[in-house]
Amino acid sequence: MSLVSAKEMLNKARDGKYAVGQFNINNLEWTKAILLTAQENNSPVILGVSEGAGKYMGGYKTVVGMVNGLLEDLKITVPVALHLDHGSYEGAYKAMEAGFSSIMFDGSHYAIDENIAKTTELVKVTSEKGLSLEAEVGSIGGEEDGVVGAGEIADPNECKQISDLGVTMLAAGIGNIHGKYPANWKGLAFDALSQINDVTGDVPLVLHGGTGIPAEMIKKAISLGVAKINVNTECQLSFAEATRKYIESGKDLQGKGFDPRKLLGPGFEAIKATVKEKMELFGSVNQA
Ligand SMILES: [Zn+2]
Repeated sequence: MSLVSAKEMLNKARDGKYAVGQFNINNLEWTKAILLTAQENNSPVILGVSEGAGKYMGGYKTVVGMVNGLLEDLKITVPVALHLDHGSYEGAYKAMEAGFSSIMFDGSHYAIDENIAKTTELVKVTSEKGLSLEAEVGSIGGEEDGVVGAGEIADPNECKQISDLGVTMLAAGIGNIHGKYPANWKGLAFDALSQINDVTGDVPLVLHGGTGIPAEMIKKAISLGVAKINVNTECQLSFAEATRKYIESGKDLQGKGFDPRKLLGPGFEAIKATVKEKMELFGSVNQA
C-alpha cells in the first residue's frame, strides 16, 4: 500500500475513541521496526520526521525513497502516513515536493494573525494535493530540534480560529512537554483540553510529548478528542538502553557481535516493544 494522508485514519480514530500513534523515525532500523509493528498489530501508523531528522537522514527525498521502498518490500498493507513534524513554512513546501503525505506547519511561534495567514495558505495547498495538515496553537514545552517551548496552555479562541480554517488536525499546548517530564510536572490541563474540544467541533486533536504521560491521562485525553499522540523520546530511550546492555555485557566482542546487523538488533527489538505497548494503550490495534 502506498502512503496515505492522515485524514481518514484520524477521523476514524476520533469517532472510534482511540488514537493513532505518531512515531518519529531516525534511520532504517527505526522505520523498519515501526512499520513491522504496525503491520503485526494491524494498526494504522504515522511516521514522524522532524526537520532535523530529515536532514540527518540525508534529506526528504531519501526519507520518502526509504519509506516507499519499505512499504513495498515488507508488504505493508496497513495505512501509513509520512508526516513532517514541526515543519517550518519553507520546510512544509520542501517535504510536499519530496512526496510526504502529511504536513505539520508549526506556526505557534508567530503572532496569531501570521499563524492564521500561513496556515490558511497551507490548508489550500495541502487540500489541493490530497495531503493532511496539522496546525499548532500554543507552544509545546521542552526542546524539539533546538527550539525550546515554554509549555503554554493554548487559548481556546485561537484554537477555534485555526481549526475553522479547515486543518485536518490541531495540536494545542495543554501543559505537555517534549522529552522527559520533570518530577514536579503538574500534569495535562484537562480543563483547557475540554474547552478546546468544545470549540473546535470534531477536528482530531493532537497530543505532542507522549513520552511518560501516565496511562490514565492518555485515556482521558483520548476521551476529550485527542486522536493522534506523538511518541519520540520513548523509542530513543528504549533503543539506547538495549544497545547499552548489549555493549556492556561484551556481546560486541564475542564472535561476529560487532556486525551492525547484530549490534543494532536489541535496539531494534526494543523499539518494536515500545511501539506495540503504545499502540495497545492508544487503542489502535486492529483498527487498520
Ligand atoms: Zn511536538
